[in-house]
Amino acid sequence: MVHIVGAGCGAPDLITLRGKRLLEEADVIIYAGSLVNRELLDYAKEGCEIHDSAKMTLEETVTVMDAAEKAGKTTVRLHTGDPSLYGAIGEQMRELNRLGIEYDITPGVSSFAGAAAALKTEYTLPDVSQTVIISRAAGRTPVPEKESLSALAAHGATMVLFLSAGLLDKVTEELTAGGYSLDTPAAIVYKASWDDEKVCRCTVGTLKQTAEENGITKTALITVGQFLESEFTRSKLYDPGFSTEYREATK
Ligand code: SAH
Repeated sequence: MVHIVGAGCGAPDLITLRGKRLLEEADVIIYAGSLVNRELLDYAKEGCEIHDSAKMTLEETVTVMDAAEKAGKTTVRLHTGDPSLYGAIGEQMRELNRLGIEYDITPGVSSFAGAAAALKTEYTLPDVSQTVIISRAAGRTPVPEKESLSALAAHGATMVLFLSAGLLDKVTEELTAGGYSLDTPAAIVYKASWDDEKVCRCTVGTLKQTAEENGITKTALITVGQFLESEFTRSKLYDPGFSTEYREATK
């Protein structure tokens, strides 16, 4: 059995209770060494076989899982954040299906949630934005044409960009082409929830300069939108004049 586990975005105590239990029980752990906090490996039992997938190809990780399976062992494949976002688990599951190896998935705290916590903000403010667009700038990995940042920017919604910290000239160019002004609030969140976390508030026009001044080239999210500083109306949910399934309006 293979357990695909979300490690959370950095701080080791952000892993779920289930994820921690699976790590403690695993005979083999394959972790994404480029981003997963190594402190999580302290949960591994004595004698657990540990591999860093940052140095391996898909074929090599699948070979390790296949050998473990044949020996009746349990494998944890530990991915950063939540495995469903930019985790390359799709291709891995396709191989496991092909080999008839059973697997399940344990979600994790994605860095987009870690970044909101670091910023102490809510992405979905009433009357400001009720939509979060999660995307990335096209780099060595292409992005479908209809999902270009300029096309997505046209919504004026909250945007969270992964894997884009090295492409900030292009990000500013595309966001402005799509309709954001250069002075739209933005923030770069570096290593959310790690000890060396950095939160840099700026604007769409100063993204590149801000990253350079703070020495940030990777492991960062770019967030964009009025949620970062808007005046906003209060939510209906906790409004005394609004009835819900659980509470009668009181005025
Ligand atoms: N599955 C992960 C994302 C993996 S892709 C998740 O859910 O978070 C790797 C990218 O995620 C990095 O390039 C960076 O953009 C972002 N990232 C991962 N951890 C981060 C963190 N702690 N702080 C900010 N960005 C992070």
